[in-house]
Amino acid sequence: MASDIPTPEEITRVSEFLESQAVAARSPGGASAAGGGARQKQRAGITTIGRFFEAINNRDYATMRSLLGNRVKCYTYFGRDPVSPDAILRAMGGMLQTFPDWKEVADEIIPDPDGETFTVRQTGRGTQLAEYLGRQPDNRQIAANLVTVLKVRDGKIVEYRSTFPFRRPWDEEISAATDVEAVRAEQGGMAVPPEEWTRTLQELASGSVSPEDLESRKAQLATETPRCEALLASNMRRCLNRAVDGSQYCEIHQDPGASGSFGA
Ligand SMILES: [Zn+2]
Repeated sequence: MASDIPTPEEITRVSEFLESQAVAARSPGGASAAGGGARQKQRAGITTIGRFFEAINNRDYATMRSLLGNRVKCYTYFGRDPVSPDAILRAMGGMLQTFPDWKEVADEIIPDPDGETFTVRQTGRGTQLAEYLGRQPDNRQIAANLVTVLKVRDGKIVEYRSTFPFRRPWDEEISAATDVEAVRAEQGGMAVPPEEWTRTLQELASGSVSPEDLESRKAQLATETPRCEALLASNMRRCLNRAVDGSQYCEIHQDPGASGSFGA
């Protein structure tokens, strides 16, 4: 591990410093002038975010899980439908497996006066050791700057949004959507098992699927059945398959890292 990666102790000190700075910046006229409730929520939110960063750096998945809401809106990677903490942790696992020495630093945390929205300027550093988005590892440490916007409620992170760091504007094929990041994440693509498609095509060809059956299958596809919460490794977007009853994942993504899904 390179020596310029901050230690957890340094990160804690930075978090504490940032906490004092951020709260002071948002408290015109001093602490007593700030709305007590909102200020307390700002402090609590900054602590939650700081602890989450530490947990990432300590590979402490239990703490990470404890700091996530029951359902998390992660617009950038999963789109507008919320996902379970399990899905977030699976993706984190994939990230930390791909970049085993990955460390995150919160360079700046700016709390919004609403007490639940936080803008975070963060830097992640790590060495890619496995193929990622089609890119081969080159054993060189990279640094990634991100500006993220988080929502924290009751000590839990419930929303995450950042710009998608893997795409240049010139390469972006989505431009008309109101929320480009979320729409991109929702266009992961179908990953229906090939044998299922083959069976359906054979049935269609042999005429054994009645018009009623077809309508019923279409209706089934159109229902608001929860979607799989796996990220596709090829494009870091959400799988579009339907989740199996009683599971967050589709048939082929039951196991982390299975069949082209990103995660560990
Ligand atoms: Zn899936």
